[in-house]
Amino acid sequence: MSSIGIVGAGIAGLQLGLYLRSRGISCTLYTDRSGDEIRSSRLPSTAALLGSTRARDRELGIRHWDDAAFGCFHVDVRVKGLPELSLRGRVDPPALFIDMRLYLPRLLEDFEARGGPVVRSGALGPAEVARLGDVHDLVVVATGRGELGAMFPRDLDRSPWLEPQRRLFAGLFRGINFPDELGLLFQIIPGQGEIFESQLLTADGPVSCLLFEAIPESSLDAVTRVPCDDDPGVVEGLVLDLLEAHAPTVHARVDRSSFQLTGALDWMQAAIVPTARRAYVALGEGRFAVAVGDTFATHDPVLWQGANAASRGARALGEAIVQALAEGRPLDHAFCAGVDERLWSLVGPSMQWTNAFLSPPPPHAMAIFCAASRDQGIADAFASNFDDPALQWRIFRGPEGASAFLEGFRGARPSRARGATSQAPASA
Ligand SMILES: Cc1cc2nc3c(=O)[nH]c(=O)nc-3n(C[C@H](O)[C@H](O)[C@H](O)COP(=O)(O)OP(=O)(O)OC[C@H]3O[C@@H](n4cnc5c(N)ncnc54)[C@H](O)[C@@H]3O)c2cc1C
Repeated sequence: MSSIGIVGAGIAGLQLGLYLRSRGISCTLYTDRSGDEIRSSRLPSTAALLGSTRARDRELGIRHWDDAAFGCFHVDVRVKGLPELSLRGRVDPPALFIDMRLYLPRLLEDFEARGGPVVRSGALGPAEVARLGDVHDLVVVATGRGELGAMFPRDLDRSPWLEPQRRLFAGLFRGINFPDELGLLFQIIPGQGEIFESQLLTADGPVSCLLFEAIPESSLDAVTRVPCDDDPGVVEGLVLDLLEAHAPTVHARVDRSSFQLTGALDWMQAAIVPTARRAYVALGEGRFAVAVGDTFATHDPVLWQGANAASRGARALGEAIVQALAEGRPLDHAFCAGVDERLWSLVGPSMQWTNAFLSPPPPHAMAIFCAASRDQGIADAFASNFDDPALQWRIFRGPEGASAFLEGFRGARPSRARGATSQAPASA
């Protein structure tokens, strides 16, 4: 019987493992951390799971967080300037900001409860991954931004930078009153970066979450470099100052007497180099390792795409494995080359759209924001299209796509307020 080895229990590895189990395919998960170790670790991200990712979870019978009253129901985009530009689009279906320290251990339990073998392997190195090729027909590397990514050649054409374009500070805070309707504030500060405020579901319930995406060396960047361990009061004070200067609508909801980080591990600082890799490498003896999730394509989080792309890619890889085995095809070089193409066709648009967003917005992008600030249908389409990066990239990649999108809102309304799908140029 064929068997698959999956290294890494992040969203990509777990969703793939659960999918393969649901199709009766033998797979073993190798993880460096137990569920309890993940639960008690530092805040790893502030991920929003979009509608299609949540739908894939539901298909797998994962419905632990389906409270209709909690979610991200709109995105409020504000572009600082004179005058400030603002738009509010409905996120339909709602997204869910969830602490991965809650999400991942629960999926790991689900995988084990469904008979999925989990090996506490510690952090595997390339030689150990190669040895897994002796016991599995295919080894999937889903270790996120970890060092194993270096096994897969960096794709220079698809990875435009060697340096991070943003430096990050994320933290969970008490003392920020929730807005009347739960949603994401997306404050753009030209020349400095972005500030995001959301409500994140944690093991202790929903909390306010702030993410600063700072252009390196800008004044916003101070928060990504300030030491937080010794005296959290320093970063808390700096965060308050930055909110007052750049995100006054959030600052207005702060209760200074109770404002503070929710815990010693509830913050993170990072800097991510957006990187795409070839999706496979030969292990010898005709066996291969395939990369998925961040190991294949690491996004900057500015457009909330990484975990959603990881989920999309994991499902596509799972389907390819199921189909190949059903047809009696080997998981060989031809299979891996096909997976590489398929993964890039799915994940490429979110990478390209995200990378484009990291540069100053071109006039056609500003034209969309301006139109969306005046037209609710355009704002709603823009917000919901975060879950359709292929369409979003066709719209945002150049003036033609933007014009076709906006044209679709003149006169008759598009039926599902998503925009002029058929009119945007199809080449992605
Ligand atoms: C601040 C921030 C905000 C974000 N916001 C969003 C968002 O809103 N929406 C979104 O879609 N994405 C977001 N992302 C990105 C998202 O978190 C990642 O894209 C996603 O977690 C990638 O999933 P993964 O399964 O590929 O990797 P990971 O989640 O990194 O999981 C990899 C797993 O492999 C394990 N591992 C690592 N090395 C080894 C090894 N050698 N051996 C065994 N196991 C190993 C790790 O411990 C980990 O458990 C954000 C990221 C950050 C940093």
